[in-house]
Amino acid sequence: GTAVQAIGLVKDYGQGENLVHALRGVDVAFQRGRFTAIMGPSGSGKSTLMHTLAGLDSATSGRVLLYGVGSSKSSSHKHPSGSQHVADSQYADPHSFVDITKLGDNQLTLLRRRSIGFIFQSFNLLPMFTAEQNILMPLTLEGAKPDRSWLDLLVTTLGLQGRLNHRPSELSGGQQQRVAIARALVTKPTIVFADEPTGNLDSVSSAEVLSFLKRSVTELGQTIIMVTHDAVAASYADRALVFADGRIVADQVNPTAEEMS
Ligand code: ADP
Ligand code: ADP
Repeated sequence: GTAVQAIGLVKDYGQGENLVHALRGVDVAFQRGRFTAIMGPSGSGKSTLMHTLAGLDSATSGRVLLYGVGSSKSSSHKHPSGSQHVADSQYADPHSFVDITKLGDNQLTLLRRRSIGFIFQSFNLLPMFTAEQNILMPLTLEGAKPDRSWLDLLVTTLGLQGRLNHRPSELSGGQQQRVAIARALVTKPTIVFADEPTGNLDSVSSAEVLSFLKRSVTELGQTIIMVTHDAVAASYADRALVFADGRIVADQVNPTAEEMS
């Protein structure tokens, strides 16, 4: 099924002489359990797409539908009154959706915490906390208890056994990024956005992190959208979208990845 979908997504920045058309009407859907790379030159709209899909940036027009975030009883599309209810993702119906462009700030914040994961170029780990505390932070902030079997699965899949009591400074760059991946996945989000996740890593650590990202998709059924400049990084994905001047100009399925699934 679909995890997230953009319909006629337009984003302008500035006005008058400074008007920039960052997204010129983007239509795209991302399927669950897939790993998509977004490529394209600097300034082509990749980050803007990611930020509008994640509700970090408001769209000028168009819709962004996030699936599987409302319960079947209270899914937003059954409430034309406009009071959109973001239910606990534990009770999520994969077919219910919310149009995030219609949500208020508080609802968006809740939705981001519960249903969207982020992986950054700079890892963004908290230095005073152990790897395990960092991984659990999204749940700690919500006052929620971890699902121990999911946590164990994440730690094993990401090869972090024996590293959980280390602080970030005691870990290599690749290990720090794997902790950040586990943190992004700990809430079982609908979708995970990775912004140049290998931008700060050498080629050996990059390859390691990318293969762990790929395992998170194939073995754990997670859904990842990765922005990257790097064709080698993109080759790990199931699909590559290429942006130019605010539009998708190519949409390729990776033949190697297809054979494997
Ligand atoms: P990419 O991620 O592909 O490098 P961006 O999405 O960052 O591209 O940028 C797309 C266009 O929007 C560029 O022309 C950029 O200068 C412009 N842009 C991005 N963010 C802002 C902003 N906050 N204010 C004004 N213009 C912006
Ligand atoms: P769907 O039924 O459309 O695949 P689900 O929300 O049921 O959507 O799950 C999506 C994927 O996430 C599943 O295929 C599964 O691999 C993975 N997943 C979700 N929760 C867990 C979990 N607790 N343990 C292992 N995998 C999980």
